[in-house]
This record gives sequence, C-alpha cells and structure tokens, in this order.
Amino acid sequence: MNSDVKDEAYYRKLWTGMFPSRLKVAFENGVLVNAYCSRCRFCCGPQAEERPFPMALLDRQISARTPDDFYLLDSRTASLDRRGCKALGPGGCRLERELRPLACGLFPLVLVNRRLYLYRICPASMLEPLESFREMAVRARDMLGALPAADVERISIARDPGDLKAKYLDLGLDVAGR
Ligand code: SF4
Ligand code: SF4
Repeated sequence: MNSDVKDEAYYRKLWTGMFPSRLKVAFENGVLVNAYCSRCRFCCGPQAEERPFPMALLDRQISARTPDDFYLLDSRTASLDRRGCKALGPGGCRLERELRPLACGLFPLVLVNRRLYLYRICPASMLEPLESFREMAVRARDMLGALPAADVERISIARDPGDLKAKYLDLGLDVAGR
C-alpha cells in the first residue's frame, strides 16, 4: 500500500535489521496470519501515495460505528491514506477481526482487478520463501472464489496493471466468485 521513492534494497536492509529471525506466516481459517505485523504496521500507517488505498467493507461489516472506525471514501469503502488507517491504535489494529476489511486479512496478498498479487515491500514477502506465498495465494483464491461474485467485485481494487509492476508481483490467480 505504502509507496515512496525508497527502493526494494532499502526495505530489504530495513526488514533484515528489524527481523533477525523468521516469524510465522500462515493461511488459517481464511486469514493470512502474519507475525511480522505487530512490529511492522507499515501498511496500516500513513501512506506516501497521493491516491487513497480503498478497502471495501461487506454489508455485514457496516453499522453506525463505521465512521468512527474508518476514514471513508464512501459509505461502504474504508480509506487508507496519508493519515494512515483510523482503526490503527498504539497496540495495533483496534478492531475485531470480523470488522476489518477483507483486504486486511489477506495482506500482503492483494486482490487487484480480481487477480491476486503479492505486495513485495512487506517484510514477510521479502523474508519468507515466495513458494509459501504462492501456496497461500491458492488457498486465498479458493476462499475468495466461494464468495458471491458481487462481493469479489466490491473488494477487488481497480488499478492499471502498469502501475503495479514496481511493488506488486502478479501471482497469476484470477478470482471470479460464484
Ligand atoms: S507490511 Fe506486511 S508485515 Fe507489515 S503490517 Fe503490512 S502485512 Fe504486516
Ligand atoms: S483495519 Fe486494522 S488491519 Fe486494516 S488497515 Fe486498518 S489498522 Fe490495519
């Protein structure tokens, strides 16, 4: 999500210093459990990009409290932008798992144009084997593929594929929904 002028080598050095040992990353119960997140918080904090990162909410996640939990692009879409995410507290995300946008439970896998990509700047992406992310992406594809097609369309981010090349790896997995 975060995008700035620093290159991949900068982040590799940063993450290697911050994470001298490998941590757990696994796809469990439809969520990518990533033990790097609690110390990292890179993708929940203030973003360098001008363009907000949209995080669509499902109908069951929307209530009167939604505007208190998120900066919103519209009534159904949370925004991650230069302010960071409103749900980020000093101890990490302050929301119950069920209230977090689906995108948060997949990151650093990202659904763009209904296709799965890997955000390469995440420390887990950089420090863990690519093959394990490919395996997790297949499971994420199967989980997302069981959702109604309208929900898949809603949570999928629209981007020009040319904009993704620098920081996102195309995993070659399309998601249609049912
Ligand atoms: S960049 Fe990766 S490790 Fe860091 S908070 Fe985001 S998903 Fe977690
Ligand atoms: S909802 Fe939580 S996990 Fe998702 S971006 Fe916001 S702080 Fe991070």
